[in-house]
Amino acid sequence: MAKNTSQATERTSDIGSISGELSDSNGAPKGAPVDLPRIERAVREILAAVGENPDREGLRETPARVARMYAELFSGLHDQPQLHLRKFFTEKYDEMVLVRDISFNSMCEHHLLPFTGVAHIGYVPNGKVVGLSKLARVVESVSHRPQVQERMTEEIANLLIHELDVKGVAVVIEATHSCMTIRGVRKPGSICVTSAMKGLFRSNLSSRSEVMTLIYGDRR
Ligand SMILES: [Zn+2]
Repeated sequence: MAKNTSQATERTSDIGSISGELSDSNGAPKGAPVDLPRIERAVREILAAVGENPDREGLRETPARVARMYAELFSGLHDQPQLHLRKFFTEKYDEMVLVRDISFNSMCEHHLLPFTGVAHIGYVPNGKVVGLSKLARVVESVSHRPQVQERMTEEIANLLIHELDVKGVAVVIEATHSCMTIRGVRKPGSICVTSAMKGLFRSNLSSRSEVMTLIYGDRR
């Protein structure tokens, strides 16, 4: 199957941009509960609108099921990803830390269809180091909301800059988008790759190629 790789490397935005106000900038009502009955009514409406009978046996429980599923898929809206990075420990280590292949699923905000893949996060600490699972928590929190892959990549990088004051951060995300594979241009197998390189990964070519080699290893 053809593997189309599109590369969008971010080098322009300033290091000192968003992150602390992540939820606010997304306009998300922080801590607001998910209104399950409202989702159920909306799903019933959609079923009726496409010409189905929402009351037939097979569909009777569907609105409630979809409501619970949405609560799970959008749970990141009620989470503040920066909090996961505030449990750091102080360490003299100043070499690169890389966590590869953090799997995630998210919902494309343009079609409300899933996109799934892996995130790789590399950083060079500046005295503050976090437990490796915290990086996975950040990915989960940022992905469980209506998203676009490019913004998600930026947000993760900015969170490490702001919360850990890292010397450099590299975030690479590879994902397949259902909205590309099952509708529209229908290109199954295509993979979208986005990357955000900040600090010394942006300014220093050898640091950048080192992290890319570690991420891709023998896949290159
Ligand atoms: Zn889409």
